[in-house]
Amino acid sequence: DAIANQIAAGEVVQRPASVVKELLENSVDAKSTSIQLIIREAGKSLVQVIDDGMGMSETDARMSFERHATSKIRTSDDLFSIRTLGFRGEALASIAAVAQVELRTRRSSDELGSLIRVEASQIKVQEATASLPGTNLSVKNLFFNVPARRNFLRSNAVEMRHVLDEFQRVALANPEISFALYHNDAEVYNLPAGKLSHRIVSIFGKNYREQLAPCQEETPFVKVTGYIGKPEFARKTRGEQFFFVNNRYVRHNYLHHAVMSAFEGLLPDDSYPFYVLFIEIDPVHIDINVHPTKTEIKFDDERSVYAIVLASVRKALGSHNI
Ligand code: ADP
Ligand code: MG
Repeated sequence: DAIANQIAAGEVVQRPASVVKELLENSVDAKSTSIQLIIREAGKSLVQVIDDGMGMSETDARMSFERHATSKIRTSDDLFSIRTLGFRGEALASIAAVAQVELRTRRSSDELGSLIRVEASQIKVQEATASLPGTNLSVKNLFFNVPARRNFLRSNAVEMRHVLDEFQRVALANPEISFALYHNDAEVYNLPAGKLSHRIVSIFGKNYREQLAPCQEETPFVKVTGYIGKPEFARKTRGEQFFFVNNRYVRHNYLHHAVMSAFEGLLPDDSYPFYVLFIEIDPVHIDINVHPTKTEIKFDDERSVYAIVLASVRKALGSHNI
């Protein structure tokens, strides 16, 4: 059902950055310690991710391109306690419907790895091959078979901005993993594994080092950690505000409002503070299913999450005397 796959692809794959997000999240889910992202022409001709994670068996490698083939959910109960980033088993099938995909993967316990090439949902090559442990997945010529979608892609500058946004979100959420990004053979980022504060500085620049105040607040129900930028470090542009719920990047206007109200009276007009805040909460208390691209989320008890975020930011601002 190549057509069904192509239709489903429209939900998951909007632009090269969507491919970047899905592949990086798969590498994180695979418990990688080191992840490389290689991009050509803002991802239009190539998005490649190389990881050192758990890899796949020969069968799993073939299955990974089937729709609803996820190794991450086994029962419908699991849907209510999602811990991994992926859970729909839709991404690789969708991507393979609208691109030329090459997968090389090996589990460290296997002697040989697998090589699979898929084009527009058709398996072209499948063979055993020598390969490094982990997974190396290339997505070439996105929308090569869907000219209407290809023509809707924006300039390389715009598409690359989206790629960088996705890369930064995953890199911020996982400071214990080392990441590198290459665009047209030039190194854009090389981020060693380390603490969150180091990750922030290596992504955004040395001038952030003295500008961060740590946040930490915990109740039996929810925990908030991370950093805010000092008020005098606020910017005129939005875009450097990050919420992660159970390590998943989310947009949340209501929680953004909580941060803004903690800063009230401290910021110049029309400016926004920098923040990277992690919210940990029992997954039974959230619904991440509201949107296919999963950047929105619903909490059972939004008000108490709001209150804890507000309190954590107030405390960070107060205790640092800024
Ligand atoms: P999902 O992440 O929702 O399970 P995907 O289509 O993204 O679905 O991936 C399908 C399956 O392929 C995953 O469940 C996983 O078993 C396997 N897989 C994908 N990428 C990797 C990777 N980098 N390392 C190991 N396994 C992977
Ligand atoms: Mg996935």
